[in-house]
Amino acid sequence: MTTSIELLKNNPTQEIGIYIHIPFCKKKCEYCDFLSVAINGVIQDNYIVSLIKELGNDPFQNPVKSIYIGGGTPSLLKPKQINTIITHVNKLFNFISPEITIEVNPDDISDAWIKEIKDLGINRVSVGVQTFYDEELEYLGRRHNAKKAIEACKIISNYFDNWSLDLIFGIPFQTKERWKENLKIAVELNPSHISTYNLTFEKGTPLYEKKLKDKPDDDFCLDLYKYAEIYLYSNGYEHYEISNFAKKNYSCIHNLIYWHNEYYLGIGTGAFSFIDNLRCANISSIEEYIKYPGKKQEMDYLTDGEIKLETLIQHFRLSDGIHEKSYLNRFSTHIDEDFGPALNNLIENGFLEYNQGIYKPTAKGFYLNNEIGRQLLDCIK
Ligand code: SF4
Repeated sequence: MTTSIELLKNNPTQEIGIYIHIPFCKKKCEYCDFLSVAINGVIQDNYIVSLIKELGNDPFQNPVKSIYIGGGTPSLLKPKQINTIITHVNKLFNFISPEITIEVNPDDISDAWIKEIKDLGINRVSVGVQTFYDEELEYLGRRHNAKKAIEACKIISNYFDNWSLDLIFGIPFQTKERWKENLKIAVELNPSHISTYNLTFEKGTPLYEKKLKDKPDDDFCLDLYKYAEIYLYSNGYEHYEISNFAKKNYSCIHNLIYWHNEYYLGIGTGAFSFIDNLRCANISSIEEYIKYPGKKQEMDYLTDGEIKLETLIQHFRLSDGIHEKSYLNRFSTHIDEDFGPALNNLIENGFLEYNQGIYKPTAKGFYLNNEIGRQLLDCIK
């Protein structure tokens, strides 16, 4: 069976993004259903060794346009470990001034650590603030407090122009006033990018098991979301993806690879790769991964129809939507031939608009984005 790494080697001109998963946190947050485990001490070098083994030692020709070190909590890594990872990727791949992002927890941030990672070539930081209210942070089970979050953002902004701040809305008992204040503080800190996520109550998380009764109603959450849209826009942030806002030229290059349904290589436990028509996921057990780096737990060979469908669904998360010419260039079929009836229906029902060759989501299409996917799926059944 062909692996994602073999597919890349067969396709040396294919540009990619690389995702590296660090599945460790100091403690699990109440709402978290990401692949991560709580650890007491430091991240052991044996996990880093496995990441290197998964990549191997044979060089690739493929140009890399982004590297994203996500988690988990990558800010638990020592700069030396980050250096080992970046140096190895740099040795194997053809860098084209890639965006190199690391996710960080405010609690881990010190001036010295941020300075060191900048010196290693990291050029974008994404900080998980979530809220500037201590009661809300406690409710979510985060380990930092509001004071530390502000301090961390100030340190990051001293070293990076390109940095992102995550906020969560729809936290039980959050008032609209508090949400407004969260956005105001965020804007004052002046990140180049802000992500706003609606808190989800995922089955299997402590939040779902213990606190589902506290869940605020959807209309209230939509109201908070609409406020964020207007406020952030009026402060110079473009709403370029359902949950993401950026100043001009500061959209996240790595995440755009996912939203454009382009190719990426995922390294580490549970990491997904998508190359050609293969989507695969690494084994999610850390012990197994350390023993057998790169072992897969899922391998899906997608049909052309599935890739087309996913490409549209992902593009319709973006305010830019999709140009019919780019669809034609990629698939050699016209978007109308493949999805005409569904697209017309979505336009008639106010989810999409069409103008000069571009299909893009309307405000309603942003708010009720799942409906777009559902109608497109019906079309190919
Ligand atoms: S820090 Fe992030 S990955 Fe870790 S437990 Fe909290 S939400 Fe999950």
